[in-house]
Amino acid sequence: MNPDVLVIGGGSAGVAAAIAAARQGADTLLVERHGFLGGAGTASLVHSFCGLYELPPAPDSAPRVANPGLPAELERELLAQGIAHDPLRMGKVDVLMHQPQRLALFYDQWCTKQVNLKVLLHTEIVATVVESGRITEVTLHCRGASWNLHPRSIVDASGDAMLAVLAKHPWEHPPSKEMQRPAYIVGINNVAAEALGGDEPLKVAGTIAKAIQEKKLPPEAAGAHFRRSGALNEIFLTLDLPGDSPECAFDSTDARSLTWIEMQGREVTFAIVDHLRASLDGFANARITTLPVRAGIRESRSWIGERVLTEEDILESRRDEQAVANATWPIELRETARGPRLLYPREPKACGIPLGCLRARDLQNVFVAGRCLSATHRAKASIRVMGTALATGQAAGIAAASIEPNTAALAHQVRQVLSDLEA
Ligand SMILES: Cc1cc2nc3c(=O)[nH]c(=O)nc-3n(C[C@H](O)[C@H](O)[C@H](O)COP(=O)(O)OP(=O)(O)OC[C@H]3O[C@@H](n4cnc5c(N)ncnc54)[C@H](O)[C@@H]3O)c2cc1C
Repeated sequence: MNPDVLVIGGGSAGVAAAIAAARQGADTLLVERHGFLGGAGTASLVHSFCGLYELPPAPDSAPRVANPGLPAELERELLAQGIAHDPLRMGKVDVLMHQPQRLALFYDQWCTKQVNLKVLLHTEIVATVVESGRITEVTLHCRGASWNLHPRSIVDASGDAMLAVLAKHPWEHPPSKEMQRPAYIVGINNVAAEALGGDEPLKVAGTIAKAIQEKKLPPEAAGAHFRRSGALNEIFLTLDLPGDSPECAFDSTDARSLTWIEMQGREVTFAIVDHLRASLDGFANARITTLPVRAGIRESRSWIGERVLTEEDILESRRDEQAVANATWPIELRETARGPRLLYPREPKACGIPLGCLRARDLQNVFVAGRCLSATHRAKASIRVMGTALATGQAAGIAAASIEPNTAALAHQVRQVLSDLEA
């Protein structure tokens, strides 16, 4: 089995990269280390697509999908299948709320019906061989068995720039104090329909705040937010966490940090739900029915690409002839567990992410998509969202399917494919 294109990681970016490459006629293999596709949008119970729509030019403008091709197809299908409901205007942006559990099934079906695409779950990349500026061999691993492949091109959509580490290619990682904070999301069932309507959210927040004051809940419970899930009587509790543990400052690539976040996430969310059950009528029968496969990690390593996307690129809505994906989400900084700080582009226009940000600086046959693409910490706070990850995945997949070595010429090819999709 030697695919033309190997895609590492089956999150929003990886699924889009794999489908896009396969539709270009490339024999494509998608490998995912967990048991289902969707990445944070399923495994971490993230339940809304941000960056899927353009920034509304006026308060009464109708939502418009920001990228042609797979992002538009996904939106259409999720709405048609009832996995998502009409886009929601939240201040200056539109989001699409979805059901993560059903999204996982949707991704299975979306991928398996593609000709030229094979998916391997429970499979991860563990080693590479680099020769003359190319990756010539990769080692995949599943439950103690390893095997080697020689793909023509590779897309790293692992979120953690795994391939950069394995290939000893330069990558970046912000210092702990700047890193976007993690969160733990759980699904809660049997919550009364009215428990989050009217003034109730304030009552819930007040109940939690009082319990923290009285030391009945730990201070970390202050990071709790609730949202209806779209399924009857179900809500999601998102708990933003500081991430620092007694052993080390927060580092999303350190096993000690990750272990702390998972365990603290479970401990605090169960404590909150137990407390609300005892305190509020609407929560009398509430119980946690869905745990995430893994805690939500907002930021990890980034590749160093031929180009590096910057904060000013986003704020100035820059675009040039290499632009292959539209980024429309504001810079959403979550450097503390006390909620987001948003920096909007000066005009409500998309930034065009250049292909050079999706291409490894020193490895000719490696492309990158999703939250580990080549961007500064601040630019990443915009492009990491799932709508944009679908778009960068699509562009990286189309590029990886081509044999054109020159980035400018390749960007032209990708743009041609995208404009055909738009037509
Ligand atoms: C708490 C939280 C809330 C968020 N809220 C929103 C929101 O409301 N809306 C929004 O659009 N975005 C949101 N985001 C951001 C968004 O979910 C992620 O940035 C987005 O999912 C990135 O997509 P991705 O495909 O790049 O990475 P991921 O979704 O992280 O997927 C990467 C995949 O690669 C796999 N993988 C990793 N290493 C390997 C390996 N070696 N071999 C094989 N597979 C591997 C992983 O298992 C994973 O499935 C949120 C994130 C968090 C953590």
